Amino acid sequence: MKYISTRGQAPELSFEEAMLTGLARDGGLYLPAEIPVLSRDEIAALAGLPYEEIAFLVMWPYVSGSFAGDEFKEIIARAYAGFGHDARAPLKQLNENHFLLELFHGPTLAFKDFAMQLIGQLFQVALKRRGERVTIVGATSGDTGSAAIEAFRGLDAVDVFILFPHGRVSEVQRRQMTTPADSNVHALAVDGDFDDCQAAVKDMFNDFDFRDGVKLAGVNSINFARVLAQVVYYFSAATSLGAPHRKVSFTVPTGNFGDIFAGYIAKRMGLPIDRLVVATNQNDILHRCLSGQGYFKGDTIPSISPSMDIQVSSNFERALYYAYGEDGRAVAQLMDELKQGGFYVSQGAMEALRESFDSGRVSEEETLATIKSTLEHSAELVCPHTAVGIKVAEDTRAADVPMVTLATAHPAKFPAAVEQASGVHPPLPSRMSDLYERPERVTRIANDLGAIEDHIKRHIAE
Ligand SMILES: *Cc1c(COP(=O)(O)O)cnc(C)c1O
Repeated sequence: MKYISTRGQAPELSFEEAMLTGLARDGGLYLPAEIPVLSRDEIAALAGLPYEEIAFLVMWPYVSGSFAGDEFKEIIARAYAGFGHDARAPLKQLNENHFLLELFHGPTLAFKDFAMQLIGQLFQVALKRRGERVTIVGATSGDTGSAAIEAFRGLDAVDVFILFPHGRVSEVQRRQMTTPADSNVHALAVDGDFDDCQAAVKDMFNDFDFRDGVKLAGVNSINFARVLAQVVYYFSAATSLGAPHRKVSFTVPTGNFGDIFAGYIAKRMGLPIDRLVVATNQNDILHRCLSGQGYFKGDTIPSISPSMDIQVSSNFERALYYAYGEDGRAVAQLMDELKQGGFYVSQGAMEALRESFDSGRVSEEETLATIKSTLEHSAELVCPHTAVGIKVAEDTRAADVPMVTLATAHPAKFPAAVEQASGVHPPLPSRMSDLYERPERVTRIANDLGAIEDHIKRHIAE
C-alpha cells in the first residue's frame, strides 16, 4: 500500500515511512492511495472474535508491505496487553437501542491509548530495524500527551516532548504527563491554548532544518497509523451488534476529527454504518461547518470537556479531501484560505459530507444535565466528553438503527465536572490510585517557536 498526501505535492511513502514522518512535506496529511474493502463475508466472520484478531484482520491490508504477519500479530498483542478489560472495547447498553462503547480501559483511561499503545510498539520495531532514533513532538489538549508518554516512556530509540496548554488540562491529565520518571519523557507547559500548541508543532514540522536536525516524528492524530488503529473498534462494535446484516450508527465526541474519521474509513471499507454523528461542545466549528455555515476559526473557549476545546480540527482536512473528490489542489487552496480565517465548503462537497455525517452541539449546562440523567436512567457514570456524545446521540438517533456512542474517557479523568453534575466522586482505578502522591516534572515555556525548538535541541539524548 502506498500513502499519498491530501495536498498532492509530497512523495508517496510506504506505511512505515508515513508513520515515521507524520505530516507530509507539502503540509498535507497522509492517506492510503486506495481504501481496501472487506467483503460481506469477511465482515461477518469478525463477529465474536477476540479484539486482537479483529485488529489484525482490519489493519493488515494497510501495513502488509512494512511488517511481517507474525511480527504485526506480536505488536498488536503487546499493545493491548496492558488494558484493564479483556474485551478491550466493551459495549454497554444505555437504553433500547443506544449503546456505549467503552474506550477507556487502557493505561491512561482514554481512547487515545488504543492508537498510541500500538504506535509505540510499531515505532520500536521499525526504528530498531533501521538502527535509528527519533524525537517525538506532540501537542495535546490533555489525553494525547499522557497516552503518548505512556506509550513511549523508557524506549531508548525515542525522546518524547509533549506540549500542553498551561492551566487548561485537568489535574489527572497533567499528573499523567508530569509524573513518569523516565529520562526520555519531557512535559512542556506552554503559555497558550491548545491551538497554539498544535500550531507550534506544525511549525516545527515545516522548519525543515530543525525537523531533519532532531529527526522529528509526529504522533498527533494527523498520523495515519493512529487513525488506522481506531478503525478497529468500529468493526468490533458493529459486528457484535449484527453488522453486516444490519446497519449501525455512531456518535463520536469530536475535537480533532481523528476518531470520527476512523469511522468514515470503516464505512468506506464496507462496514454498513448508517450515520456518523459529530458531537461538539461549545467549541463548535465542526457543527457550524456541517450545518452549512462555513469553516471559520473562532476563539477557543475552555469547557468541562477540555479534550474537545479545539477550533481547528486537523483531521477534517482528510474528510475534505474525499468530499472534494480526492483533489489535492482544492484541499491546498482551502488550507490557504484557512490561514486567512476560514472558507465555505462547495455545494458538491457539502453534499458528500452530509451523505455520511450529522452533527450536534452541546452546552455546558446540557453536558452536566446529561451526566446526571445518564446516572439516574442507566446507572452509568460518564465523563463530560462522553456526555456530549450521549446528548447528541439521543437528539439525532433513529428508532430502528442501533446507535453506539463512543465513551472516550473514564469519568475519573475529569472528577470535578463529574462530581459537580452527579454528586458522585469517581474513583481512579486501583492501578493508578497513587497518582496524586508521585512527584511532578514539567517545564513552563513561552508560546514562542524559537524558545521551544531551543529547549528540545538542548534536551535530546545524544
Ligand atoms: C481526544 C479526545 C476527544 C476528541 O477526539 P478527536 O479524535 O480529537 O476528535 C474526545 N474525548 C476525549 C476524552 C479525548 O481525549
